[in-house]
Parts: sequence; structure tokens; C-alpha cells
Amino acid sequence: MEQVFAPWRIEWIEREDRNERFDGCVFCELPREKADRENYLLARSEHAYVLLNNYPYSPGHAMVIPHVHTGRYQELEPESLLALNRLLQYTLEAMDDALEPDGYNVGYNLGHAAAGGSVPDHLHAHVVPRWEGDTNFMPVLGETKVLVEAILETYDRLHDAFATQETATATDSDSAVVVDLE
Ligand SMILES: [Zn+2]
Repeated sequence: MEQVFAPWRIEWIEREDRNERFDGCVFCELPREKADRENYLLARSEHAYVLLNNYPYSPGHAMVIPHVHTGRYQELEPESLLALNRLLQYTLEAMDDALEPDGYNVGYNLGHAAAGGSVPDHLHAHVVPRWEGDTNFMPVLGETKVLVEAILETYDRLHDAFATQETATATDSDSAVVVDLE
């Protein structure tokens, strides 16, 4: 039987300790905390930010998330839409430099039916780096655990790659890189 690679089936999953920490929308509240590295928040711009997935489908699995709280892609203002996609470009550049994948899956799960148990009210673009021959990779519990332990290592590599890009400013390794998209 052929295995189907379906990265969108694995959504952003809140860690146990986070469920109690946030009253409201986690994607609205995370960037307001001053704990970027701890939260895996890699980079921010005026309109959007980049977050590594808690339980990545593959190393480097990230999300680009607008600051505006909406689950409807149709409702994004042109300014937010452009800034979101510019930051997505930056993310791909950083991943090219830091992880050298052979390709990417990039996409959205929109609406409750498609998004499952995730955060359907605040849209987010998944960016999943892919390598030749990784199609048999299925995130069974054991493998997922290994990846979770590797997240901080991936975080630091990508953080460095973001920091070396034009118009990027890194204050320290614990804070997200600030990307000026103007
Ligand atoms: Zn939100």
C-alpha cells in the first residue's frame, strides 16, 4: 500500500502547559510574550511573524502568521497580504540557507472542516521543507519526539539565517529577528 504524504494533517498542536497559559487566541498572544526562543518565534515584521511548529512534520516545519486575527484569507487587507507573503519569501530564503531542502510544501488549511483541531480562527501558512526520499517519513510518536527535541537546534540555525538577510536585525539569540519589509 502506498503511503500518502499529507503534511497538512499534522497541525499546530498546543503543548499541555500552553493550554492553561493562554485564555484567548494563541497566535495573537504568543508574539506579545517576551519569550521568543522559548516559544519558537523566529522572526517578526510589522504585519506578520514566523513560528516553528511545536510538533513538526519535518525539521524546519514553520508557519507564517499575520498579526491580524482572522481565519478568512479573503479578509486580509492588501497591505497584510503583501507583508505576509514577503515574510514567506524571507522564510524560504532562510530555510534555503540553513537547511538546504530539495523543495517545500507551502499552504493553508482554511475553515474548521479543513483545519481539524488546530487554530482555524487565525490563519497561518504552513511551510514544510522537503528532502528527496523523505516521503516514507511518517510522524509516529517516537519520531515526533526526536524532532521536538531537535526544534531548538533548528531554531538557532534558522535564526542565524534570518539574521544575515538584508533589512533584518537580530538583537540577541533569544529574541526573534526583526525583519523590516519596507
Ligand atoms: Zn488570533
